Amino acid sequence: MDYKDLANLIFPDIKEITYYEEKYPKRELPEGAIVSRFAPSPTGFVHIGGLYQALVAIKMSNQTKGIFFLRVEDTDQKREVENGITGIVNSLKNFDMAPDEGMFTEIEGKGNYGPYRQSQRKEIYQTYAKYLIEQGKAYPCFCSSEEVEEIRSKQEKAKIRPGYYGVWAKCRNVTVQEAIERIKNGEKYIIRFKSPGREDKRIKHHDVIKGNVDFPENDQDIVIIKADGLPTYHFAHAIDDHLMGTTHVIRSDEWLSSVPLHLQLFQELGFKAPKYAHIAPIMKNDNGNKRKLSKRKDPEAAVSYYAEEGIPSQAVKEYLLNIANSTFENWRRANPDKAMDEFELQLSKMSVSGALFDMLKLLDVSKTVISKMTAEQVYEKSLEWAKKYDQELVDILKDKEYALKVFGIERGNKKPRKDISKWSDVKENIEYMYQELFEKDKKEYPYQVINDKETIEKILKLYLEKYYDENDDKQSWFDKIKELSGELGFAKEVKEFKANPDMYKAHVGDVSTVLRVALTKRTNTPDLYEIMQVLGKDIINKRLKR
Ligand code: GLU
Repeated sequence: MDYKDLANLIFPDIKEITYYEEKYPKRELPEGAIVSRFAPSPTGFVHIGGLYQALVAIKMSNQTKGIFFLRVEDTDQKREVENGITGIVNSLKNFDMAPDEGMFTEIEGKGNYGPYRQSQRKEIYQTYAKYLIEQGKAYPCFCSSEEVEEIRSKQEKAKIRPGYYGVWAKCRNVTVQEAIERIKNGEKYIIRFKSPGREDKRIKHHDVIKGNVDFPENDQDIVIIKADGLPTYHFAHAIDDHLMGTTHVIRSDEWLSSVPLHLQLFQELGFKAPKYAHIAPIMKNDNGNKRKLSKRKDPEAAVSYYAEEGIPSQAVKEYLLNIANSTFENWRRANPDKAMDEFELQLSKMSVSGALFDMLKLLDVSKTVISKMTAEQVYEKSLEWAKKYDQELVDILKDKEYALKVFGIERGNKKPRKDISKWSDVKENIEYMYQELFEKDKKEYPYQVINDKETIEKILKLYLEKYYDENDDKQSWFDKIKELSGELGFAKEVKEFKANPDMYKAHVGDVSTVLRVALTKRTNTPDLYEIMQVLGKDIINKRLKR
């Protein structure tokens, strides 16, 4: 009786590993092409940190003409959620990050290296587990969970390192003969890896992000095939990333400490190990404490939050690139019109420790992204958002021609308006351009320097009677406000006012503010001349007379 008999008893009807090695040949890609992946569990929920990892992976593969695929890790069936894959697929799609290969609906995958859903790869894992058993590199373990628990508590009491290793790995020394008998007797078992490592030896490793790290070798005989016949994460990772031709495992740094085990698995399976790039998590400042963004406490941890708020996906991605490489910001400044894809992301320049998530900064990035859109794009995107989240805005936007004029104010020029940071801001930002809403608005007029009723009335009356002409171009429009200021004894130039502050009560800027507030109930708006052009004569008359 030898290992082969044991392996055949455990996995009788199974292929040889050569079958899979031939079925999934080495990928033919250009030199330096990066193959990477996003490998979530199908919980339906995508954490912003997951999106960040996926973005880095997709960017690296696009930059090198490689492949990015989506693999669903559903070997922990307790964690499964209905339509959990669809949620992930759609999130990626919404961010324009659809993978080249992998799952693209709840049940379908595309690409030559599938299935891309681990639960459908059971046979593949078992084939490699059998291969290890044949060589005495894996073995059946008959310990019940109670026994494993007992070992752990003994270790705890004796204050020694917990785990199934060395002398504690009871079933490691069960002979082939005995194992075969116990299996034939119907005893339950799982499969463990027989670790060749020693805890007192260290391994050196180079992580593409973290740099040189060194760890004690792994000596734990971890479970590779569970009682349900499915693999554990560690085993599946080695098999899948080998067969799928992954060159770079880009994943969360919570896995960094598993690298010694993973390298050992690759080694014992006879596979070439991939490069690892461990990404630090996105952190949040919580009253002075830095902690990970939490699914439970922070709404912004879920990528669905950004869609609900109406923050364009491009803004989220640009912000994440900012976090990934601090050089992105300068690049963006120097290349305001280039597509984000042209930026060369460098894994080695990623921060080793967790970056802070800064919502204000994200909104600022978003303002710039939106400012570069055409009126038509702003219209389409806000309407698309409104259809899901704000019926009132849908109604406001019904008159498309007028809405395009409103969104066209100060847009498409060198210094476009930057007042919209998310689609949920739009209503508030354009309300005053709609007479009905303007009339409904019960806010006070926020007059500033010139705020006494009498002077305001005088300014508005004179403006309407003598200076307002809807056909004026911008220069004559402004010249007339200057003249009006002069006529009423205000400084026609701000400079003049500053030189002789005692001579004047206010200056031309203050007079325009009176006009602006009377017309919009706001002190801050895009260009007043353009606003007046869009509002038109009748409305201007109405508002100024009020
Ligand atoms: N399913 C693992 C996770 O979600 C994947 C880690 C990896 O990328 O290898 O953490």
